[in-house]
Amino acid sequence: MDDASKAAPPIPGKDFIREILDEDRRTGKHAGRVATRFPPEPNGYLHIGHAKSICLNFGVASEYGGTCNLRFDDTNPLKEETEYVDSIQDDVHWLGFDWQDRLFYASDYFGKLYEFGEALIHSGKAYACDLSADEVRAYRGTLTEPGRNSPWRDREAAESLDLFRRMRAGEFPDGSRTLRAKIDMASPNINLRDPALFRIRKATHHRTGDAWCIYPMYDYAHALSDWIEGITHSLCTLEFEDHRPLYDWCLEALDLPDRPRQIEFARLSLTYTLLSKRRLLQLVTGGHVTGWNDPRMPTLAGFRRRGFTPEALRDFCNRIGLAKRDSVVEVELLEHCLREDLNHRAPRVMAVLDPVRVVLTNYPEGKVEDLDAVNNPEDASQGTRKVPFSRELLIDRDDFREVPPPKYHRLSPGQEVRLRWGYIIRCDEAVKDPATGVLTELRCTYDPQTRGGDAPAGRKVKGTIHWVSAAHAHDAEVRLYDRLFSASNPDAAPEGRDFLANLNPDSLVVKTGCRVEPSLSSAKTGDVFQFERVGYFTVDSDSGPSGLVFNRSVSLRDTWGKIEKRARGGA
Ligand code: ATP
Ligand code: MG
Repeated sequence: MDDASKAAPPIPGKDFIREILDEDRRTGKHAGRVATRFPPEPNGYLHIGHAKSICLNFGVASEYGGTCNLRFDDTNPLKEETEYVDSIQDDVHWLGFDWQDRLFYASDYFGKLYEFGEALIHSGKAYACDLSADEVRAYRGTLTEPGRNSPWRDREAAESLDLFRRMRAGEFPDGSRTLRAKIDMASPNINLRDPALFRIRKATHHRTGDAWCIYPMYDYAHALSDWIEGITHSLCTLEFEDHRPLYDWCLEALDLPDRPRQIEFARLSLTYTLLSKRRLLQLVTGGHVTGWNDPRMPTLAGFRRRGFTPEALRDFCNRIGLAKRDSVVEVELLEHCLREDLNHRAPRVMAVLDPVRVVLTNYPEGKVEDLDAVNNPEDASQGTRKVPFSRELLIDRDDFREVPPPKYHRLSPGQEVRLRWGYIIRCDEAVKDPATGVLTELRCTYDPQTRGGDAPAGRKVKGTIHWVSAAHAHDAEVRLYDRLFSASNPDAAPEGRDFLANLNPDSLVVKTGCRVEPSLSSAKTGDVFQFERVGYFTVDSDSGPSGLVFNRSVSLRDTWGKIEKRARGGA
């Protein structure tokens, strides 16, 4: 991936789709109406690419005083399931959008779509074709060679009609016949070489059951569903650009008034991320993740469980903007949007992921002080809380070095640090297990004059570290998530291997034996916190009586700032 293909910062002003909407409004097209739809196929969970489409479709509808429908594009009975239908509705709502009473299913239109098929036969624009799938392929031609007409292309309309009715009645086996549009077998656009409009598929549909054994093809069903719902602007991704002539053909061939217009925009791609439902399904069924909502998945359900907020995702979708050419967005931008949002939202708490004991030898045994801690320095309205302080504390093992490197401002023998919201302490002795040499305890003294930051003049120290009181802290398991793939383009696999070769073996590190401050005892699933100096963490639904479970949403280190600098030509 070269630098030019990476996403530029968002372009201020209107995007090309909103310019089209302005122009249509100016010229009075569709009597000024704006009606869009979000049309997922219920064959998987929604991912962040869908979020871009949802934000666009629902976003322009609300900006232009219009409507946006949620329409399940459920024309393929083999891959679709009710579980997906339910999750998609949850996810759209969670992202912050509402279709009100406009929930539709393409399968609700099967009857009308069938009638449109008959109408096309009557007007000589469609025919029943007896070629098998292999034969159709052989007749189709290639990008450089025109196709050949099917021997059934010019059969009488009455015969086509009879066959189409019998297809519907279930008289023929799967794949034995199709209803095809009569367009142009020599068209340079292969989509126009007499594409199939209906195929036979004797399968049970998740909504219509066994009522149908012929199912409409995507392009046909999509254009006509848009028309049936009175859609004005049918926004879709670039891979449908070559299908637009067929979309238009369906509407023109039936001579339908007030036709919707298909407009294509670039689909979202993200570094280190796969956004294809087929691949995501493979990850789920292959057991490479725990499910569609595994916090490493780029699904909305996964992001939610990871502690992403709808606000952060919407902000991201706004910032990437809309383009007519595909590009790859850096995942660091997404993480940056989350940090920006959580910085304002998430209360700060103290948690120790890899605890080592600190004994304050001059602090009275049995004494407990309640220290005042600010919940969020970015938002005074979040108030303060009490944090218990006592003689035995726990700090992160990484905040002590026996031999400190230069500029090390944390704890080391003879050195002082401030305990966040507490006192300045000095390390007097590091106790190690004589057998293993592993550090077991730090013996320290505290300075009673330095409580809560009101240190007397001249008593400043460079470092501040977090801590918890050993007797008061709660147990927790912390799941440190990292990118699911270690390659920037997960699809670029080594010779002879597939994308699974790029899975990051360290995408999940589980840390048990972590300790968190007692204020977290009332935390609920989905609450997000900043563990001071560590990162943002959310309470997972696996939390229970035996302890809290936290998912790391994102670390504190913001690499997007650096990327922006680089994009501007800085160092
Ligand atoms: P996938 O390729 O991941 O399987 P899809 O396009 O088949 O996705 P649909 O359920 O058909 O999934 O998509 C619903 C809508 O979301 C479509 O309008 C589609 O264009 C849009 N969409 C899907 N993926 C992206 C993406 N990566 N970026 C933007 N829009 C997308
Ligand atoms: Mg699709």
